[in-house]
Amino acid sequence: MSKRLEGKVAVITGASKGIGAGIAEAFAAEGASVVVNYASSKDGADEVVSRIVDKGGKAIAVRGDVSNQADITGLFAETKRVYGKLDVLVNNAGIYRFAALEDATEADFHELFNINVLGLLLATKEALKYFGDAGGNVINISSVVTRLLLPNSSVYTATKGAVDSITGVLAKELGARKIRVNSINPGLIVTEGSHSGGFTEGDMKALVEATAPLGRIGHVDDIAPAAVFLASDDSKYMTGESLVISGGMR
Ligand code: NAP
Repeated sequence: MSKRLEGKVAVITGASKGIGAGIAEAFAAEGASVVVNYASSKDGADEVVSRIVDKGGKAIAVRGDVSNQADITGLFAETKRVYGKLDVLVNNAGIYRFAALEDATEADFHELFNINVLGLLLATKEALKYFGDAGGNVINISSVVTRLLLPNSSVYTATKGAVDSITGVLAKELGARKIRVNSINPGLIVTEGSHSGGFTEGDMKALVEATAPLGRIGHVDDIAPAAVFLASDDSKYMTGESLVISGGMR
């Protein structure tokens, strides 16, 4: 069977660990050449690249803070230099922090919005310079929080609400250029970030197990195949959609 992303070049932001790493590895297994972006975890990104190359896939690691224009410029220039083109951008880099409004700070607001929203806009804007005549494909990693509207999450949920809005707007704005823009809105997924943030144990895990119809928290391999689907021609008539992947919780 032919691989579904053969010949495609994909940039995945924040792919040194977690959901981004899983998507990078799934894309490479389907034949894509992948750019594993990271902000500071060089070792993690190098390990993802090694795992891909060991299996016969194509990948490079490129450092770059998505909220920094110079870094974004460098990320896509390096992609072009090494692989010659761009077909798919996965805007996955993101941070999360939950707090009651009384405890939310201005610094938190700016940091979360800079990475989760400005970073996504900067990366997408830069990608537009590199998508070819055949069009392009943008996959934004949002969150089911935009449906759940959980207490103590106003700033983080606001960033992902912005991501959902941007997905819808850009799908309309870029459709005529054959650029598709969709989102994946995961539920609670076990990753380095969710584990170290304390979400994969305790109250949050218990809430998911009690209320998600499928009765469990998710794993990276619950998400990555959907990203492959959105990146492939299997979804060629889809744009502006949000795939909520949360065990049915919403
Ligand atoms: P994670 O394990 O914490 O990994 C985050 C990744 O993003 C790392 O590779 C990190 O690189 C990178 N990153 C952070 N800041 C960056 C920046 N400024 N520029 C470039 N890369 C940056 O996170 P995750 O749980 O996989 O989450 C990934 C995405 O899924 C996020 O957008 C998150 O909001 C979303 N999401 C996660 C869950 C969940 O339960 N895990 C649920 C819904 C949505 P460094 O290590 O180099 O900093």
